[in-house]
Amino acid sequence: MTIEKDKVNKRQIYQDEETLNSFVHFFHSFEGTTNYAYNQALVALAKVEKTAETPRKLMEYLMEDIIFTALYTTIYEELFLTLKQHPDVAIRLLDKFADGQSDRDQLVNIHTQNHMNYIMHDGECSGCSSCEGHSDLTPLLVHWHKANLEYFVKLYLEVQTIHSGLERILYDLIPTHPDYIDRINDSIISQFRQYIAQVVTNKLHQV
Ligand SMILES: [Zn+2]
Repeated sequence: MTIEKDKVNKRQIYQDEETLNSFVHFFHSFEGTTNYAYNQALVALAKVEKTAETPRKLMEYLMEDIIFTALYTTIYEELFLTLKQHPDVAIRLLDKFADGQSDRDQLVNIHTQNHMNYIMHDGECSGCSSCEGHSDLTPLLVHWHKANLEYFVKLYLEVQTIHSGLERILYDLIPTHPDYIDRINDSIISQFRQYIAQVVTNKLHQV
């Protein structure tokens, strides 16, 4: 019995590894093109840097984008798991999801503004529709007080690259390889995120 269980676990671990490797391979397959998630993050960063008049403003813009993108990434993660629960209608759900873009943008915008207010008021909020998530911002608040621009640049690149990386999986890989829907789980997504974060760290050390 235990041996059987052990076999099943090993098979699961092996399959997870295989799926993660496919995601990583897919992520890197765009390298050298404008569709490479890290390049897209760099382009986005350059745009923000161009708009900001002062380092303080830059930090503020970066933080706003970080919050917005991180919220969006959470929605993607939930979508992955919803697709897994409804594999028979997954592609239809994916199309429907794409159609709901502007409504979703609006909702994420509201939450982002609420969180920005919280940060701008030094971590105080008299009550808003996003209070539940304020505590996730504690690290941002700490670095905001330290005016640690470097931290925000790195986090911005990480969050953007992870977001684009997941987006590519969702819209480019899944529709042609729906078999991945069944293989995805929390642990794979989390490991994929960590992998991308490490790629960004390595890139920044190369400079
Ligand atoms: Zn609040």
